[in-house]
Amino acid sequence: MANSIASPWLRLAWQSTSSMLCPPECVWCERPTSPDEHFCEDCLRLFVSDYCRCKRCASPLPPVVPNESCSRCDAAKWRFKAVATLGPYRGRLREAVILMKKKPFELLRRAVGELMAKELQKQFANSRALLIAVPNHWTRTFFRSVCQASSLAQSVSLSTGWPLLSGVVRRSRITAKQGMLSWTDRTHNVRGAFKLRPTKRIAGRHIIVVDDVLTSGATADEIAKLLLAGGAVSVSVAVAARGTGAREVVVKSAATGSDSTQQPS
Ligand SMILES: [Zn+2]
Ligand SMILES: [Zn+2]
Repeated sequence: MANSIASPWLRLAWQSTSSMLCPPECVWCERPTSPDEHFCEDCLRLFVSDYCRCKRCASPLPPVVPNESCSRCDAAKWRFKAVATLGPYRGRLREAVILMKKKPFELLRRAVGELMAKELQKQFANSRALLIAVPNHWTRTFFRSVCQASSLAQSVSLSTGWPLLSGVVRRSRITAKQGMLSWTDRTHNVRGAFKLRPTKRIAGRHIIVVDDVLTSGATADEIAKLLLAGGAVSVSVAVAARGTGAREVVVKSAATGSDSTQQPS
């Protein structure tokens, strides 16, 4: 698999349209895989990592840190109780999350959603959870045909059998992109940005809020606040990748003049 985005783009776009005709193969590297798996064993090791993490928010922690929670969780009063994720937002998982925002990669979204379902079933065994996808504002849905959070939630629902509730939470105003803001501004950006449609279906239930990436936790926390006020007994979060918190910078290659995206160490 080439390291560039262009190569997986072309390969996965083709796989998304030809998967019904071809023998089972890994959605990432095209090597043969078993009929009930979308990824080969090598790719699974790249997508799902057993990293050292905060027990509350799944933020990566140095392996030498014996604490079970990070400094942000020690200070924050999160309304959600736990975060399930495949791994940190870097490497192949980060590439996959970027590709999942594009329309042709439905098969990739479905495959990643199935991996998330396995993690959720490990973490919340015996749970009678309900799923809710982080909603886009209707204007974004209107002009963009892909809502990756919704696609992932549908895949998780199919794999787990847990019901997916749609329309219970809506984004009531347009918000700035969280990735462009400081962590303090992210909290202000999403405060009051969601509305709950009252429903008895969430009363007394454990709700899992599904999204592609969680970084500051502000969006998930805002939605958790609404759901708890609406009668949910607890709220957890499921994301494909856990943001590392490091800002990404674009570095111009002196040799080629091309741009590449890196995370500062
Ligand atoms: Zn593979
Ligand atoms: Zn934490």
